Amino acid sequence: MKAHTIATIASHSCLQILHGAKQEGFSTLAIAQPAVAAFYRQFSFIDRVILLKEFRTEDHRSLLFVPHGSFVAYGIEDRQAKYFGNRKVLEIEADRNVQDQWMRKAGVDVPRIFHSSEEINRPVIVKQFGARGGQGYTVAANKEAVRRAVSGQKKYIIQEYIVGTPVYCQYFYSIIRNRLEIIGFDRRYETDVDGIGRIPASLQQTMDINPTFTVIGNLPLVVRESLLPKFYDMGKNVIAASKDMAPPGGLWGPFCLETIIMPDQRIVVIEISARIVAGTNLYTNGSPYTDLLFDEPMSMGRRIAREIKEAIKKKMVEQITT
Ligand code: AMP
Ligand code: AMP
Repeated sequence: MKAHTIATIASHSCLQILHGAKQEGFSTLAIAQPAVAAFYRQFSFIDRVILLKEFRTEDHRSLLFVPHGSFVAYGIEDRQAKYFGNRKVLEIEADRNVQDQWMRKAGVDVPRIFHSSEEINRPVIVKQFGARGGQGYTVAANKEAVRRAVSGQKKYIIQEYIVGTPVYCQYFYSIIRNRLEIIGFDRRYETDVDGIGRIPASLQQTMDINPTFTVIGNLPLVVRESLLPKFYDMGKNVIAASKDMAPPGGLWGPFCLETIIMPDQRIVVIEISARIVAGTNLYTNGSPYTDLLFDEPMSMGRRIAREIKEAIKKKMVEQITT
């Protein structure tokens, strides 16, 4: 197979993906909405920018797509295209109940799930299905507020609200090298929920704010070294459990465990992203962790392209694409 052009949708982590692809010697293609095409055309590492409405998969047989958050959130899916990673895993990522089963199977700590507003006995967070960068989440502390939050909603999950330190761990699982790598950590910077703490509680009480979690950006992070082996084991367990959730291959490539760490250092997984996360955009030139694993700057985008390159060399492209 000739898969020498790496393509993705022009948003989310497109710049990093195509920058890394170019570093590894691939041709690159961005598929863009008209409003952003000119912006993406200014980057020399993007060979071509095609408008979404003009794009036909059949004209581009040798493309290999790298899916990111926009593919999940906007449901962009093309059965004819070749994807890096396992589509089945991307599909189950969109279903929060299946995610919850997967995490339980992996033996990692998860927040308590409430099945009806009647059971609510502590603060909860109500989440809609599908990745939307925290948009549409509601915190609620009682039955009435939960009833309001879920009314008219079809697909949602009610999770216990965990108070602790949010830590997002970015992993890459390589089939070619048969190893799990911790690529970096980040935390999110979220609109009103990160803004509300900047004003005094007395003022907060006079305002009718129901904080949302809409993500605006990401902040870099390193964690206590003693947490690293724990994150490493969690990642391995999640990979092992994924073979049952999306057989036979399970999860490979980039993924992220989104956690909240409790004061007793228990790591609670609030969500998994089974693809590249935008927090990896922090590390276009590598992270403090990739510096220890590789002798060269290694972004997540470049790591993906490196895997594809090694697969081509070993004639294993079929094993890493779906
Ligand atoms: P955009 O890049 O704004 O087109 O976003 C595409 C999708 O990815 C949307 O659902 C966003 O909410 C989500 N997204 C974008 N950036 C981030 C981020 N830094 N963290 C989490 N989700 C994100
Ligand atoms: P997620 O899209 O699940 O990664 O969550 C987005 C944001 O919502 C996180 O960065 C947290 O600020 C918040 N959040 C999600 N779930 C929980 C939870 N169970 N407890 C506390 N905060 C949460």
